[in-house]
Amino acid sequence: MKVVTTIKDMQELILKQKSQGKSIGFVPTMGFLHEGHLTLLNRARKENDIVVLSIFVNPLQFGPKEDYAEYPRDFERDRALAESEKVDFLFYPSVEEMYPTSPSVKVTVQERTDVLCGSSRPGHFDGVATVITKFFNIIMPTRAYFGKKDAQQVAVIEGLISDFNIPVNLVAVDIVRENDGLAKSSRNVNLLPTERKEATVLYQSLQAANAAIDKGERDPIKIIDMICEVIGNESSGVIDYVQIYSYPQLKPLEKLEGTIIIALAVKFTKVRLIDNIITKID
Ligand code: AMP
Repeated sequence: MKVVTTIKDMQELILKQKSQGKSIGFVPTMGFLHEGHLTLLNRARKENDIVVLSIFVNPLQFGPKEDYAEYPRDFERDRALAESEKVDFLFYPSVEEMYPTSPSVKVTVQERTDVLCGSSRPGHFDGVATVITKFFNIIMPTRAYFGKKDAQQVAVIEGLISDFNIPVNLVAVDIVRENDGLAKSSRNVNLLPTERKEATVLYQSLQAANAAIDKGERDPIKIIDMICEVIGNESSGVIDYVQIYSYPQLKPLEKLEGTIIIALAVKFTKVRLIDNIITKID
């Protein structure tokens, strides 16, 4: 595995691989790797000749009061994990390398951002779309792998690829969970011990919602109320949002039908956790 820190080196290496007809699988991450990331890497390894992992905590996608400074980082551990997943190139640029000057062009996401994390994290998806556009131009991937844990991100990137005609195939991978159901996240280490126990209620509330839908409930308000009640009763976390939309369009629904996303965000002392389920209603 080669660790690459400059854009120029990365592009040269990729162009060389592409000139030999190799397919490139790309997994963008912010590091502090866990099984969710490793599942993406594993899938990329199976489907491509070359696997590129990027590790970059992108300042552009954090708000001024968010956890950019506290975001967990451990490059040596990540490097060893990447090596064991048979990554070919680990792209690990500095902030100065990615953003040497203040940008003269910005990517602004117009749709699918007025809901869910877009409304509670203004500018977040512009930051994501900007860094992903840069990565697509640097890595030139055949396939790019994203987790459904960040389902809104998947929807936004789908829009980016389609609107800008980017020649890449997006592969969306199912959420990987801890044994007790908590969605794996780099941020879970910043939960207090009591909060870690309580956090299992996030997925439990989504499962309860799914069960109610299976039994025939079609009123989104009733489902949302049910989730809020379960979380409110069983955790000290403060609900940021619980919302239901069509997926991937992210349009409001008066009645549950088609493919929907039930998504939530809950704030704990030092971290804000997100989770969702995407389900198809016949
Ligand atoms: P992050 O490092 O949090 O930016 O995540 C990098 C990629 O891994 C994103 O596409 C995430 O959606 C994905 N990811 C993070 N956690 C999980 C998980 N528990 N299951 C599946 N994918 C995940």
